[in-house]
Amino acid sequence: MTVIGLDDTDSRNRGMCTTYLAARLAERIRDAGGTVERLLLVRLNPAVKHKTRGNAALAIHTDFDADPAFELAREELASAAETDDPRTNPGLVVAPHGPDEAPDEIAEFARRAVRELLSRGEAERRIEAAGYRHAGWKNGRGKIGAVAAVGAHAAFSEWTYEHISYREPERWGTPREVNFDSAFAAADSGYPDVWDTVDRGTGEAVCVPHTPCPILHGIRGDDPEAVRRVSEGIDGEPVARTALFVTNQGTDAHLQDAALHEVEDDSAYRVTGTVASDPETRRGGHVFFTVTDGEAELQCAAFEPTKRFRDHVRNLRPGDRITACGEVTKGTLKLEKFAVRSLDATELVTPNCPDCGRSMKSAGAGQGYRCQRCGTDAAGKVERELDRELEIGWYEVPPEARRHIAKPLVRGDFDAPTHPEG
Ligand code: ATP
Repeated sequence: MTVIGLDDTDSRNRGMCTTYLAARLAERIRDAGGTVERLLLVRLNPAVKHKTRGNAALAIHTDFDADPAFELAREELASAAETDDPRTNPGLVVAPHGPDEAPDEIAEFARRAVRELLSRGEAERRIEAAGYRHAGWKNGRGKIGAVAAVGAHAAFSEWTYEHISYREPERWGTPREVNFDSAFAAADSGYPDVWDTVDRGTGEAVCVPHTPCPILHGIRGDDPEAVRRVSEGIDGEPVARTALFVTNQGTDAHLQDAALHEVEDDSAYRVTGTVASDPETRRGGHVFFTVTDGEAELQCAAFEPTKRFRDHVRNLRPGDRITACGEVTKGTLKLEKFAVRSLDATELVTPNCPDCGRSMKSAGAGQGYRCQRCGTDAAGKVERELDRELEIGWYEVPPEARRHIAKPLVRGDFDAPTHPEG
């Protein structure tokens, strides 16, 4: 067996995308007599700044020998590298072993590539130590993702599927012709095994990209047959080719459990704390609040593109206990989802007079409250039940604002009730 890892072949100006290159390479391998067992689409750390879009790396699992596989892949990537897009720095790594036979160091590198920022130097050392064939173009940064893609199948156990339909090359860059009614009907027919196809709140077909890339639509879900069926149910312009990818999308593989004082920039976390400030909507519609665990504080944010999710965030109050998930950049956790663990359901208010029902007045510092009409008094403020909009459980951003790697609540297996956004 052979694993071919590829990354960083995208170019904004040429509208390439690495999934397309992998699908085309898989076809060349088949044409040359090889069998392709699996195409793997791995989403790496979403906090990587030089990513083109979704920080994807690709692996092809095949019975084709490593040497001819390397030559074919090198030809494909060399043409992708012929772009003046400074962000396109292709990398290729070919491993002469099965997808689950990667050495521990390579699997560990893959695990860290989803959660941390790694260097090209470390990637190169690991590639050399494992004895893999490799090639890099321009600054060669793509080797980081390429070797991570080689180790990914051994590193992770939870996988989902994406069925991608590609456009005819002469249509690339032109508006996509997709029948939206059929996309919504197909999405409904596959839900909840197939998810993030459409955003029922905004009426957007999330499966259809807006970029000039070759993808017509990508259908994601838990079951390979279901994603294929939904994909075939969508009417539109001719489909030039399709490919099924095994992926870590929708798995939350990027999240690390941490205490607030352990949190660092450029990684994503699952942290638990108490809301310490009233959520505040700032310029641009972004909502901010802080959480604390007594030892450290962390600012959390729900940005404008998360739309209706911000209403749930605005309903938080100091004293609520939550678990917050998201990537931390510049000391701020960008919320992808949160779970309400407990709600502060009472507030302290000035007491009412038990005789006349009117609000009492302060009787002076430290002297409680008194009714000026009846002369009744009370020792201090009293608790009042609050009507809370939020319920215990998980809330998430809508599909349109979802990170590729973030797990949609509809996939289930969460540690509290869920309030999914379909
Ligand atoms: P698309 O989603 O359109 O395929 P992209 O967002 O995947 O594009 P790339 O062009 O692949 O973007 O760029 C990501 C770059 O970051 C690659 O060079 C990859 O090797 C590198 N990279 C990936 N993960 C890490 C990491 N954890 N630390 C440092 N660099 C990384």
